[in-house]
Amino acid sequence: MRQRRGQVRHILHRFATTETPNRYTKAHITPTGGMIQNLAAGQTGMTSNAFLVAGERAVLVDVGSGFDIVSAVREQVDELDGVVLTHTHPDHIGNLDGVIEAFDVDVWGYDTRHDAVDHGLTAGESVRLGDGDYDVVHTPGHKNDHICLYAPESGVLFAGDLVFANGGFGRTDLPEGDRSVLIDSIERLLDRAEGVEQLHTGHGPSVTSSPRRDIERALQAARTGA
Ligand SMILES: [Zn+2]
Repeated sequence: MRQRRGQVRHILHRFATTETPNRYTKAHITPTGGMIQNLAAGQTGMTSNAFLVAGERAVLVDVGSGFDIVSAVREQVDELDGVVLTHTHPDHIGNLDGVIEAFDVDVWGYDTRHDAVDHGLTAGESVRLGDGDYDVVHTPGHKNDHICLYAPESGVLFAGDLVFANGGFGRTDLPEGDRSVLIDSIERLLDRAEGVEQLHTGHGPSVTSSPRRDIERALQAARTGA
């Protein structure tokens, strides 16, 4: 299993490269016909992914950092109705001031004590993104205020930095990181996101084919790499 640990480190390192633009697919059609776009696709800097969920309520899931996301949003929609944060690490919220200034939007997140968060989301609550209702799943371990968002109807899951494609999982060596808590969170997510069809993560490519396998591999890797 030592090799897997090495692979995971490599993946995390690759996310942070500033040399080559990421080549992640930008646009995804959800199983229920919605549109989700990764506006950080093609970026070169130290940014997270940032997903625009279009529809009745146009929402950004994370805003990324260090690039002009305002123009990218304007290319897609006239108005933005809100921002939801998977957690408040700098690479996920760096663009927030610009987004708020441009679109006059409020920000939802788990920890209302954080300056960036206007409205709290609690575990088990449902939040509207695009045309879908997403369950809020509190998933600490990478950071205490970390949440995942799962829509039972479409099977779309936003997993933030909890798990990544190909069995990667969030680093736990930063403040508030805790591997055993992360493992509990991945288990809870597998329970809650029973019918997951699409996985959109905080870094790296989305998974649109059997994403449950990727999450199970992440759980296995997190357990054995402790
Ligand atoms: Zn993070």
